[in-house]
Amino acid sequence: MKAIKILLFLLIAVSCISNQEQLEKDETQLPKNVILMIGDGMGLTQIQAAMAANGNTLNIERFHTIGLSKTSSASSFITDSAAGATAFSIGEKTYNGAIGVNSDTIPVKTILEYAEDAGIATGLVSTSAITHATPAAFIAHQPSRKMAEEIAADFLKTDIDVFIGGGKDHFANRKDGFDLTDSLRQMGYHVSFELNDIENVKSGKLAGLLSPDGMPPFSKGRGDMLAPSAMKAIELLNQNKSGFFLMIEGSQIDWGGHANDPEYMVSELLDFDNTIGKVLDFAEKNGNTLVIIIADHETGGLTLPHGSDILGDSTSTHFSTTHHTAVMVPVFSKGPGENQFAGIYENNTLFDKMMYALGLTINN
Ligand code: MG
Ligand code: ZN
Repeated sequence: MKAIKILLFLLIAVSCISNQEQLEKDETQLPKNVILMIGDGMGLTQIQAAMAANGNTLNIERFHTIGLSKTSSASSFITDSAAGATAFSIGEKTYNGAIGVNSDTIPVKTILEYAEDAGIATGLVSTSAITHATPAAFIAHQPSRKMAEEIAADFLKTDIDVFIGGGKDHFANRKDGFDLTDSLRQMGYHVSFELNDIENVKSGKLAGLLSPDGMPPFSKGRGDMLAPSAMKAIELLNQNKSGFFLMIEGSQIDWGGHANDPEYMVSELLDFDNTIGKVLDFAEKNGNTLVIIIADHETGGLTLPHGSDILGDSTSTHFSTTHHTAVMVPVFSKGPGENQFAGIYENNTLFDKMMYALGLTINN
């Protein structure tokens, strides 16, 4: 009798294990679309501060698969945003300041370029200039992040479908006198300088250059620009039958950190989190979209030493530096293939995971 009981127990246990395996296999099916959302300078304490300032809740809590990214660059224990984003875009750690080039300043094909070559639609959306380090690293190949005009010209060498951010001056008010917005129009882009105008674009290619350089802070005139820009990009890119790759950046979480300004940092993070909520609503409805949230690094060495009145009590936040720090940053993933993004790994590994998710392989 006892032997039969043990046998029954074993049979039940084995069937449970095989069910579990089945479930994991289903969850790792590959997505059609990948949306990468980068919170520049968004460490765990930045998230915690914004959560406390927002009634202890954020859309980020809708993610269940969580990882940690090790952020060092090839040249420094503490990365800058150029090397951080280039690690994501080319799969190699490089030196601080590098845009889409390796440690020898050699251009390396980015995931956005691989996607384009495979017929996958691509987009970049940012609250900085679109030529700024983070978005630039996905599309341009320059030895220095400071080369904004060269970076702008690199946009015209690709087949990117949608880009929206600031940075109009780097296209239209240049030292060489060229107006690259004319070239963009000739290439078939609808060029918009106003958010309202973007709303009217229902198909085709879109270049949104919504301010001369970086966008203003959320609380100083930008307002609700990131979420509608991201959703417009999704609306346009989702018309492509072969799927899309879209990078959306909350750029100024970092700038609030550099300024050691908790209100700036928190308002930028809440704007980013609002965008995350809308992107997740799309992805959950679509069912074939993988959403990944990551940061390039933490900014400001933020700690929360006193109480939870984050914005009401100035002692409740404490920045230990006006620069970046080396601490690992969280990664959140949701959608087909999300399990690939759990665990602790080097930042450049994100490239391989996203390439796998999109069914892309490296070639030269
Ligand atoms: Mg950035
Ligand atoms: Zn920074």
